[in-house]
Amino acid sequence: VILGGYLVVKQEITVEVWLAFYMYAQGIHTSLLSLIELWPLIKSTQGSVDRVAQIADLPMEESGNNPIDYVDEIEFKNVCFAYNEKEVLKNLNFTLKRNDFTAIVGGSGAGKSTILGMIERFYEPTKGEISYNKFNIKDSDIFKWRNQFSYLVQDSELFSGSFKDALTYGIKEEVSDEQIMSVVQLMNLESLISKSKEGLDSLISEGGDNISGGERQRIVLARVLLENKPWILLDEATSNLDKETEYFVTQILNDLKGKVGLICVTHRLNTVVKADKIIVMDKGEVVGMGTHKELLVSCPTYKDLVDNKLEAE
Ligand code: ADP
Repeated sequence: VILGGYLVVKQEITVEVWLAFYMYAQGIHTSLLSLIELWPLIKSTQGSVDRVAQIADLPMEESGNNPIDYVDEIEFKNVCFAYNEKEVLKNLNFTLKRNDFTAIVGGSGAGKSTILGMIERFYEPTKGEISYNKFNIKDSDIFKWRNQFSYLVQDSELFSGSFKDALTYGIKEEVSDEQIMSVVQLMNLESLISKSKEGLDSLISEGGDNISGGERQRIVLARVLLENKPWILLDEATSNLDKETEYFVTQILNDLKGKVGLICVTHRLNTVVKADKIIVMDKGEVVGMGTHKELLVSCPTYKDLVDNKLEAE
């Protein structure tokens, strides 16, 4: 500015040239700044692409051909499992029956989530086998096998998109707006959706940041109902719900009893007492199996969980 002013006074340049130079300089400055700001974004995108590429490069999982028409029961026979060297599950023996509501309880790190992961075939047993209708699950078509299950974890992710996208994510069959609205009503999400002008088409931001944790979890539970799979695996899926909604969701789970195979890892006593069968885990072992009443008498670990660790409310 000073040099320009000096040159104008000396009549070496005109005021127009001085102004034009000043504006160009400003333009370049802004562009350079935005280029510099782009750099961290480029680097983080590079990192993400690397990670996606690593997953894409993994070998395909092994898949068999055994038929999967109706999975009546899933049987764990002497199943052991270790993450690397660390033995996490020891000699598990139990049968999960379709149309039963099974709760899996135990302290933190007891191996409950690993059991659900093994049912989904995320991990293979290091010893023993898991079978269905007398076939080993490792000989089944892995995609058809996984198609039997809805699997819901505690903090399920929501991607940015509309309510409709979030409710139907991963569902391959055509789902009508009426079907969606019926589960929306069941999950008490109607007021949230009708509050927004665009209804089902209104947007949820990345990670569901513009809605509450309870609403997020109810959306994912609604999706599970829309998926209509024969088995539902819930891993602490009702943990983020406020009391009123939790009560309401427990009623829905109750309604599902007898219609689907419901396997639920939970620390909510209200949910546990309703189970047809409770599997009590401790340090990777099954230490008790039965109903709430039976276990209170027969299993000290269960009694301790009920007295001290399971959430009564
Ligand atoms: P729970 O669901 O009962 O809390 P988990 O099944 O998540 O227990 O974990 C059982 C044990 O396995 C824990 O000691 C945990 O630290 C360990 N574990 C879980 N996932 C992994 C993993 N991906 N790699 C190594 N160890 C793991």
